[in-house]
Amino acid sequence: MDSIALISDTLATSGADEPPAARTGPATFLAALLDAGLLIPTGVQGLYGRSETFEAIADGLNAAITALGSDQHAEILRFPPAIGQADFETSEYMKSFPQLAGTVHSFCGDDRGHRRLLARLEDGDAWTDQQAFSGVVLTPAACYPVYPAMARRGPLPWQGKVVDVLSYCYRHEPSLEPTRMQLFRQREYVCLGPAERIVAFRQLWMERGLQLGKALELPVEVDVANDPFFGRGGRIVADSQRELRLKFELLIPVNDGAPPTACMSFNYHLDHFGALWGIRTDDGGTAHTGCVGFGIERLGLALLRHHGLDPARWPRGVRERLWSA
Ligand code: AMP
Ligand code: ZN
Repeated sequence: MDSIALISDTLATSGADEPPAARTGPATFLAALLDAGLLIPTGVQGLYGRSETFEAIADGLNAAITALGSDQHAEILRFPPAIGQADFETSEYMKSFPQLAGTVHSFCGDDRGHRRLLARLEDGDAWTDQQAFSGVVLTPAACYPVYPAMARRGPLPWQGKVVDVLSYCYRHEPSLEPTRMQLFRQREYVCLGPAERIVAFRQLWMERGLQLGKALELPVEVDVANDPFFGRGGRIVADSQRELRLKFELLIPVNDGAPPTACMSFNYHLDHFGALWGIRTDDGGTAHTGCVGFGIERLGLALLRHHGLDPARWPRGVRERLWSA
């Protein structure tokens, strides 16, 4: 019941002007997940612990995605969920999504500074301005560490390559919708190479994404989409991204009374990242890139929403797809 109390607390302080439906919609499913112990509250919106059952679902999804991509001959790379300042700046993330970025700050002072910090804490005053930027930024998308790593290796092999990554990602978007977390996992296949290869890669994975969603007996649809580019200038970039059909998403209804949730995305970046980092094809051209991103938490939540909170009682075909590889 603690979790319910925590949710009602948050509701009481966060959405007083919203109509009741908007306030209770997402919280109802979240409350059920917390009550079942699948997610563990931390007192911060979008920051949850995961139960053994939730992790078993995440593992099953990852295994199913690995099976689906077994013909890709992908190089498996795993990065910690952070990138360095230089690579972050090269990505130009702050131009497009300053509202989502998370930076790591640490105390770098001396004894006097430490006393000042403790005094602030003691008095209940703001204390984080006593810290300095550490040069480490939380990874905003699992594919971000891949581009500088590939650029540093020199030209790509003939016809490019595919990389398999999995990372916790940070986005500052606190929400009562369980599907919108601040820290969540993305599993991605990232393709780097000539334009034609990326276009074919993305087409293949849109088909495979739909196939996986249907095998998991989920109501899925794929639609054109855009990233949440910041500000008024961002609207123009988002419109152009849609017009050029650079981003598609696989959508599944998860939250009550809300539009369906993007659980996978299929992205073609043209030569944007190739040019920023200087990624070269084997013949010296600028590489094009694309990625397919699977939202592990969102897919898990979609399964829980549609098949119930006890995976032991999920349809046999779904269980087999996740756990008998
Ligand atoms: P994107 O890089 O925005 O295309 O995201 C790729 C996938 O990550 C999405 O399709 C979602 O499944 C997942 N995702 C994005 N943002 C969040 C979030 N705030 N919480 C949970 N999953 C997310
Ligand atoms: Zn990506």
